[in-house]
Amino acid sequence: MQDCIFCKIIAGEIPSQKVYEDEQVLAFLDIDAKAPVHVLIIPKKHVGSVLELGEEDGALTAHIFAVVKKLAEELGVAKDGFRLVTNTGLAAGQTVPHLHFHLLGGRELGWPPG
Ligand code: 5GP
Repeated sequence: MQDCIFCKIIAGEIPSQKVYEDEQVLAFLDIDAKAPVHVLIIPKKHVGSVLELGEEDGALTAHIFAVVKKLAEELGVAKDGFRLVTNTGLAAGQTVPHLHFHLLGGRELGWPPG
């Protein structure tokens, strides 16, 4: 999608530090890390947010969660715990309108989030 930062990252027009890629999904380091481990996992297909996910995206959604599990294990945060965050909409702090899952770990994570 034109003017979408994450679509440009997928296309290689904006550089990123990739940690995982396949036909459906890309994972890369967040440019402004909020924890020792802070990876963004995104579908390559442009989906604006959770609100735009349909029943037809069931296989894609399951695949994203499989990638989350794999990365949590590979990045060493599965054992101690990690957080998966999907901000949806302005009030929740979504700044990039392309569905993304923040995988955060490597430190104690407070609750509730701000
Ligand atoms: P949101 O605020 O929408 O939940 O999360 C967007 C995330 O994308 C933020 O944590 C922000 O640091 C990250 N981000 C924004 N632009 C870029 C970029 O160009 N490259 C990378 N690697 N991360 C970005």
